[in-house]
Amino acid sequence: MPLSPRDLPSVDSVLRDGRVRSLLASHPRKLVVEAARAAVAEARVAILAGHQNGHIDPAADVEHRLLQAQRPPLRGVINATGVVIHTNLGRAPLSAAALRAVADAASGYSNLEYDLDAGERGSRHALVTDLLRRLTGAEDALVVNNNAAALVLALSALAQGREAVISRGQLIEIGGGFRIPDVMRQSGARLVEVGTTNRTYAADFDAAVSENTALFMRVHASNFAQVGFTHTPALAELVQAAARHHLPVLDDLGSGTLLDTSRYGLAREPMVQESLAAGAALVCFSGDKLLGGPQAGILLGRSELIARLRKHPLTRAIRPDKMTFAALAATLLHYVRGEAEREVPVWRMISASASTLDARARGLAGKVVGATVQETCSTVGGGSLPGQDQPSVAIALSPNSPDALARRLRAGATPVVGRIEQDRLLLDLRSVLPEQDATLAAALTSALAEQR
Ligand SMILES: *Cc1c(COP(=O)(O)O)cnc(C)c1O
Repeated sequence: MPLSPRDLPSVDSVLRDGRVRSLLASHPRKLVVEAARAAVAEARVAILAGHQNGHIDPAADVEHRLLQAQRPPLRGVINATGVVIHTNLGRAPLSAAALRAVADAASGYSNLEYDLDAGERGSRHALVTDLLRRLTGAEDALVVNNNAAALVLALSALAQGREAVISRGQLIEIGGGFRIPDVMRQSGARLVEVGTTNRTYAADFDAAVSENTALFMRVHASNFAQVGFTHTPALAELVQAAARHHLPVLDDLGSGTLLDTSRYGLAREPMVQESLAAGAALVCFSGDKLLGGPQAGILLGRSELIARLRKHPLTRAIRPDKMTFAALAATLLHYVRGEAEREVPVWRMISASASTLDARARGLAGKVVGATVQETCSTVGGGSLPGQDQPSVAIALSPNSPDALARRLRAGATPVVGRIEQDRLLLDLRSVLPEQDATLAAALTSALAEQR
């Protein structure tokens, strides 16, 4: 006989159930009651939908719901997608030193805005200025919450109510609906597009100058590549054209790398030092893309421009917190010491050789029943190096339903995200840190066992 809502136990009787009563010893009563109510409500829905085959037991469901309700919403996952800077998976992981610096700064007091030599008020912005100057040759630096904020600040401070000239081919959407033209409008700068979608020359910028022009702008076309009949003026040419009108060039590098990506079999991503050397008056980039640090927007350039940004009211609204400064300083110190490739996780992953990845894959495949080793290609991601990939190695699984296995892996104690290709689930090892290999093997074994 089909069940009716009258067959449902009351919330009170669920709370009297021995299995639920024992939970009250270790969980607040309020949470247990909420979980019991939710379990009964779900059973009612299932009965009304005719999904119950003669058996309901809301009490059995209460513990699971309690644990779900108290699980931290933001959790560590294993990124086995092969995309090193994965925007959906938290971008750059921090180095061990950066993590220690964050814990140190956050667990007690710090000299965030206190000059220890003088014994008086200091500035948080001064904390990383020397490091950034030393690494890039910039006259001055300012760090804000992210690169989008850096752009809004730079345009608000330097071009509000005036014109910013940019090539039509660089009016890009970065991701998550973040569009350069919208950001420019938000800052109160008037956008002047020059050139055509595929071809723009320095002369186009020249011709667009009026008494209202505030600056020329270049945006790294991060996440797409133009091929074929194209032209963009080199930064040095743009700087020359701007200099004829005494205008500054603002260069949004996006990823902004300090190391040369061409050393790792990739194309050359524009480097921060080169942009400054070519004469860009202001350069901005993200802290958590190729720099491999915390989320931040880093602005570098001529001291009089940085001084104007520092004084702008927006700067206070978008200043980073102490944990960001701690992680950023520790990350920059890796570059100062020449150890970034060894210590910064993003560079450890990019610089890993295919033979190292292959050895790890073989080790892992030996521990996971049914796993094989497969050559594949990984990408850097983070809006850098579009169309570029690196040879990589993956563990491949061919279950009846790759989607079902992928779902189980995402639901595990340490969620694992891989990718499905030609009915196989691939776990690309380039984006997995070697110290996560054992956890990955355990997660795979457990997800495969559940399947059987
Ligand atoms: C990623 C990116 C941004 C935005 O940087 P966030 O740090 O994500 O705010 C801006 N411009 C370019 C070219 C980018 O690639």
